[in-house]
Amino acid sequence: MTEVVAPFPLEWADLAACKDSADPDLFFDPDEEPPWQDLARCTETDPEIFFVEKGGSTREARAVCQGCEVRAECLQFALDNNEQFGIYGGMSPRERRALKSRFGDDTATAVAFAIPPALPGGGVAA
Ligand code: SF4
Repeated sequence: MTEVVAPFPLEWADLAACKDSADPDLFFDPDEEPPWQDLARCTETDPEIFFVEKGGSTREARAVCQGCEVRAECLQFALDNNEQFGIYGGMSPRERRALKSRFGDDTATAVAFAIPPALPGGGVAA
């Protein structure tokens, strides 16, 4: 039996069935939402401002979070993962502990309480 040897090193992408497809949308959904982390506003800032020493100011980090469109998702992540340090969703570890104390494992309700959904016209739900 003759061994077949490729004339060049094959990369996995060279073997992918989708590479010759005339319709890439069959493999990639153009309407799929990016993960919330891709929309995080803090990726454009110095991460140090989110992890200040005890007694340091968190004002700068909170200001960044205020304008972040994935603030609720971020806070939910921090609550679900018991993040003990840093500003997430504009809230300090102490503020998150207070939410956990009040709402327990119902982190979705805790987030809705802390970050009321925006209403059409710019208001927030009570
Ligand atoms: S809310 Fe979360 S993701 Fe958004 S800027 Fe603040 S820390 Fe980053």
